[in-house]
Amino acid sequence: MKIATVQATALKTRSAIVQVTTDEGVTGIGECTPMNVEVLANFVNTALRPLLVGEDPLEIDKLWNTMLFKTYKMGPHGIQPGAMAGVDIALWDILGKVTGLPIYTLLGGGYRDRIMMYCSIGGGAPLTPDEMVRKVDDALTAGFRAIKIRMDWGPYRRDQDPDKDMAMFTAVRKLVGDDIPLSFDANNGYSVSTAIKQGRKFEELNIYHFEEPVAQYDYAGIKQVVDALDVAVSAGEHEYTRWQFRDLISQANPDILQPDVVKCGGITEMRKIAVLSDTYSKDFVPHQTQPTIGTAASLHVVAAIQTANKPQEFTGVREDLNTLFKEPLEFKDGHITLPNRPGLGLEIDNDRLKEFAL
Ligand code: CA
Repeated sequence: MKIATVQATALKTRSAIVQVTTDEGVTGIGECTPMNVEVLANFVNTALRPLLVGEDPLEIDKLWNTMLFKTYKMGPHGIQPGAMAGVDIALWDILGKVTGLPIYTLLGGGYRDRIMMYCSIGGGAPLTPDEMVRKVDDALTAGFRAIKIRMDWGPYRRDQDPDKDMAMFTAVRKLVGDDIPLSFDANNGYSVSTAIKQGRKFEELNIYHFEEPVAQYDYAGIKQVVDALDVAVSAGEHEYTRWQFRDLISQANPDILQPDVVKCGGITEMRKIAVLSDTYSKDFVPHQTQPTIGTAASLHVVAAIQTANKPQEFTGVREDLNTLFKEPLEFKDGHITLPNRPGLGLEIDNDRLKEFAL
C-alpha cells in the first residue's frame, strides 16, 4: 500500500484538517495546531507532502522521522511539529482502518473508553469575576463537573492583576462548591514570587491544579514554584518533542505534563512523551483545545495510559464543527465516550469540508 495524496485544508473555523489517502482507497484524517491554519496547511502541502507520496503509510515511525529530520531547519518548536501532527494522526487513522481496530487498541489497549472531561474556559484577563462566574455556570449547565479557568495573561503581561485573579477564583469556587475540581491557569503570567503567594491562597481554596504559573521558558522559575507549593503544578503545552519534555522534567520538574497532540508531532511523539511521564511518575493530562479530531486523537492516547485517570481538557462541544462528521464525538454528563470504530472513529463529510474551507 502506498500514500497517494496528502491534502491539508485550512478552515474558517480556525482549524487545519489533513486527509491522507492510499492507492487502495483508504483515507485517514488528522488535525494540525490551530496557530495560523493557512501557514500550517501550506507547510503540509508544500514541505511534507513530497516526503510522503509513494511511501508506505503503515511505516509511521519511519515517516515521522523523515518528516522531522528533512524539515528540521524549519522547526522543531512550533509550525513544523504542528504540521507533522496532522499527517501523523491521519497515518494512525489509516492504520486503524486497515486493521479494523481503534487507535487505543493499537497503542496497547484501552484502560477506559468513557473519559471525564473538565471545561477549559479561557480569556480571563479582560473579564470581571462576575463575567467568569457566568461562563462557569454555563459549563455546569452543559454537564461539566470539573472546571479550569484560564487567564491568558502571557509572560509579557506579568503580574498585571493578581488580586483580580484571586477574586475571580474565589467567586468561581463559591459558585461550584467544594467538591468540583477547580484549576487555575495563569498562562505564564506571574513572577516566581507572585506565583508562590497566589498558589498558597489557591491552596486554601482547594485548587485542583495550578497551570503554567510563570514564563514557559523559565524552567528554574517553574521549579521554584513546584518546590514551594503543595498543589500540583502543570506545564508542557509549549514543549513539542520528547527531548524538550526530558529537559522540562529534569529542570522544571512539574507534577503534571501537558503535551498537545496537535502541536507535538501527533500520536507517535505523544506516546513517547507518555512513556517519559510514566517513567518519572508524572500525571499525564494533555493540553487540548481542538474539540473534534484533536480531542479524539488525544483521548485515544490517554485511554491507553494506565495512570491517566484525571479529567481531560475540553473546550466544549462545537455544534458547527460537529456537522463536519458523520458521527461526531459524544459528550454527555461531563464525559466523552470514545468510539470503538476503527482508527479515530471519526469520518469527514467532504461536502461539509468544502463549505468550511477558507
Ligand atoms: Ca494552558
